[in-house]
Amino acid sequence: MPMQATDRAEEAGALSFTREVERETAHVYKRLKHIIPAIEWPVHAPYIAAINRLKLERRAVLLAHNYQTPEIFHGVADLTGDSLALAREAAETDADVIVLCGVHFMAETAKILNPAKTVLIPDPEAGCSLASSITAEDVRLLRQRYPGVPVVTYVNTSAAVKAESDVCCTSANAVEVVESLGAERVIFLPDEYLGRYVAGQTRVNVILWRGHCEVHERFTGEDIRYYRERFGDISVLAHPECPPDVLAEADFVGSTAGMIRHVGLNRPKRVVMITECSMSDNVAVEFPDTEFVRPCNLCPHMKRITLPAILRSLQTMQYAVELDEGIAERARMAVERMLNPAARGNRTNA
Ligand code: SF4
Repeated sequence: MPMQATDRAEEAGALSFTREVERETAHVYKRLKHIIPAIEWPVHAPYIAAINRLKLERRAVLLAHNYQTPEIFHGVADLTGDSLALAREAAETDADVIVLCGVHFMAETAKILNPAKTVLIPDPEAGCSLASSITAEDVRLLRQRYPGVPVVTYVNTSAAVKAESDVCCTSANAVEVVESLGAERVIFLPDEYLGRYVAGQTRVNVILWRGHCEVHERFTGEDIRYYRERFGDISVLAHPECPPDVLAEADFVGSTAGMIRHVGLNRPKRVVMITECSMSDNVAVEFPDTEFVRPCNLCPHMKRITLPAILRSLQTMQYAVELDEGIAERARMAVERMLNPAARGNRTNA
């Protein structure tokens, strides 16, 4: 429903940067002041204060992906992480409401694991080029073409695609999941570059799909050479959704959680993370002694989630994720086989 003028006036009145708001958010700003310019803080702070209050009233937990902007990631999120961490947190929360600050497939995964809870996504148009690269019908056709070959599906897919799959994986556990099946061949969907990376780490024969992340596919090996020439001592960390020439030139390849761990363990003087733009901002808050060179490839879908959208979501309890029960049940089996290796004995959804 479109916002009425009176709503806007009420919201604007309620969202002033008062002394109280300034006090309430001072601890957040202290952490963010070298990332967010002082002039922007009076815009963010009233939303941060209002969201944090409303979250308590609604008994809501706010999960935010590593690609969310710093004011969301550090200002209002209760739990943060990569897709795997968010799926795990979603499975364990005892909150009444889950607000997923990420893209639609992540909210669906949270709903799959919490069918009785209300799962909200602040903007239902927050999609993903990987998730939209494949349909359930495509998976059924692949099964006909390769009978008996298990289907491993990246979590960046719709619930309907997960329901046609045997087991899910994330970039953090893809190699482990593929190897755990004990099969000579697997169908790996839908990210071609992640699939190629997995194929290079295992003896299992990997059948690929041509899906790509529109953010990571834009990086090139030339970019990496530029960073090395420009900053001789730079440590290059790349996400496995990047093309093979990028991964070949990187010092470390890993999921967003893997990259954070790598920085924490190695404390490089200077680092570039070849992944979505906000990641470096969020990690830089934790490691002030490391210089982060920031390539800026934004994910337009992740950036649909904003503080005003989150506040509105909590106020209106929109947009609730609803799934067909049959699809959700089959998708749950594929996600649970990922989260619980012991469940992979009964691996097929075919
Ligand atoms: S960064 Fe890529 S994989 Fe992640 S949500 Fe955006 S388009 Fe999808």
